[in-house]
Amino acid sequence: MKKKCVVLLSGGLDSSTCLAVAKDQGYDCYTLSIDYGQRHVAELKASERIAQSLTEHPHKVVQINLNAIGGSALTDNNIDVPEYGQSKQAIPVTYVPARNTIFLSTALAYAEVVGAQAIFIGVTAVDYSGYPDCRAEYIAAFETMANLATKAGVEGQKLEIITPLIDLSKASIIKLGHELGFDYGLTVSCYNANQVGEACGHCDSCHYRKQGFETAGITDPTKYVCR
Ligand code: ZN
Repeated sequence: MKKKCVVLLSGGLDSSTCLAVAKDQGYDCYTLSIDYGQRHVAELKASERIAQSLTEHPHKVVQINLNAIGGSALTDNNIDVPEYGQSKQAIPVTYVPARNTIFLSTALAYAEVVGAQAIFIGVTAVDYSGYPDCRAEYIAAFETMANLATKAGVEGQKLEIITPLIDLSKASIIKLGHELGFDYGLTVSCYNANQVGEACGHCDSCHYRKQGFETAGITDPTKYVCR
């Protein structure tokens, strides 16, 4: 029997590569997206398409309304998404308070239900925007907690949090996905993407993505809004 995993899928470049890696490692993949009230709803549509192209199980979407909490440019319409280089803080306003903890906790519940031994999350500590919940020590702490928190953990079925991209640059991530035959044209990364998934070309996320394709020497399939 194949090992099972839950893959947190946002519809962006990193999480999609993570899914391609999990599949390549022989996992039976259950994809999960969190509809948290993010600006970039086009990402959610993208995640559905990506899940359909790579997995057999129905894609799961769980709604957790983080607009009710706000505190981020991605969840509060009163806070503008800054253009790349505009943000002066070490941790920019696109940081969503406790997002990965909320995501991983939801994935943990789903993993327990489907009997998965692993959760894949596409966090990266290189080329990132300074988010504290993308660091290896955070992931290790969450894994320890997860094994104490669940029935499966207590009964001896250890759960791993797998972060295949954590030490990879954006360009290396793109090269990896490209080698695995993944089509990045399916993904949306922009913090300000419009309804049809066209990218703004100016936010942090667009900047790192564009630079990643250039450095990797791979054609960028991103569709940009003309402005
Ligand atoms: Zn953008």
